[in-house]
Amino acid sequence: MKLRSYLLLANTISIAFIIVLLLVFFQYMLVTREQLIWLGLATVAAGIVSAFLFFLLIRPLEASVRRVGEGAGRIAAGELEARVDRTGLAEFRLLADQFNQMGASLEQSFRQVKAAESAQRELVANMAHDLRTPLASMQSYAEALEDGVIEDDATYRRYLATIRSETVRLNELIQDLFELSTLDRRTDDQVENVPAVLEDVLLELHPRFSMGLDAKGLQLRVRLPERSLRVNMLARHLQRILQNLIENAIRYSPHNGIIVIAAEEREDGVIRVSITDEGAGIAESERERIFERFYRTDRARSRESGGAGIGLSIAKLLVEQYGGRIGVEQAEGQGSRFWFTVNEAQGNQ
Ligand code: ADP
Repeated sequence: MKLRSYLLLANTISIAFIIVLLLVFFQYMLVTREQLIWLGLATVAAGIVSAFLFFLLIRPLEASVRRVGEGAGRIAAGELEARVDRTGLAEFRLLADQFNQMGASLEQSFRQVKAAESAQRELVANMAHDLRTPLASMQSYAEALEDGVIEDDATYRRYLATIRSETVRLNELIQDLFELSTLDRRTDDQVENVPAVLEDVLLELHPRFSMGLDAKGLQLRVRLPERSLRVNMLARHLQRILQNLIENAIRYSPHNGIIVIAAEEREDGVIRVSITDEGAGIAESERERIFERFYRTDRARSRESGGAGIGLSIAKLLVEQYGGRIGVEQAEGQGSRFWFTVNEAQGNQ
């Protein structure tokens, strides 16, 4: 039943009820015949006027309901940007507001889902590409060995060494990807704040870099404050961040360069750790993008030794999980200075 018919029916029932009452009053001689006729006529006239008024007043209500209905229909048909005009009675304006809010949040969620979908697709495409490169190289070296065309021992060994180094690269890549996916799944409340001591973490890391440093004749200088710095972060996470940044500094440093690791305390209980190298630096336009997954600058892309472009995104995820910030700036002279902030642990001495 339509709203209009429903209200007209209610109107008719109340008029009929008044007329029945009048008849009952007449029956018990509470009103005269003449009074009954006048009162009856007045009731019918009032009924007609109120039905007419209902008819007039109901139209804007119907229009408001129709507008919201049409809006819902458009959203259901996939037109998520559909909104309803804010007109009519206060309640309908409120309804329109709520409807529009609902539409806006639906639209936003839909956009987020779309963005996540395309990021996922891009991730898979990049992963496939990065896995294919070492695999293809391993395949071609293995085929050459299988063909038996290599006769001298040195080449034979070199091919085997290449296959081995490609498997190492592949393994590192898979490990990085695995780490990235588990980081994505972690939620804030899973972050335990176990303090790590910065210098202990650096000392533990040092042996991993000595070969890379020696191979390029690099010097590593560490500048830490006198007292030990305890930070609000799991040691393995701090280790991972530093490892990724130091590995990059080594990778992109020129031979015989200097790498400086420094930490300074900020008054507000925040520690800023920085790793400075003397490499070619990073163009200003790329300083944000290098923290995106799989992003490599053109220079790094053309390099054989370049990584997959995941290291910095892992570092960013970890730093941000603990409420810190990460960035890169131009170092004095040449090179880049990567930095991140982390909260000092309570009770630091
Ligand atoms: P990758 O494994 O390729 O090094 P990262 O995520 O660690 O991936 O770094 C992303 C990109 O940022 C690198 O490919 C490189 O272009 C640039 N980059 C990172 N660190 C440095 C650095 N210290 N000096 C110059 N460029 C750097």
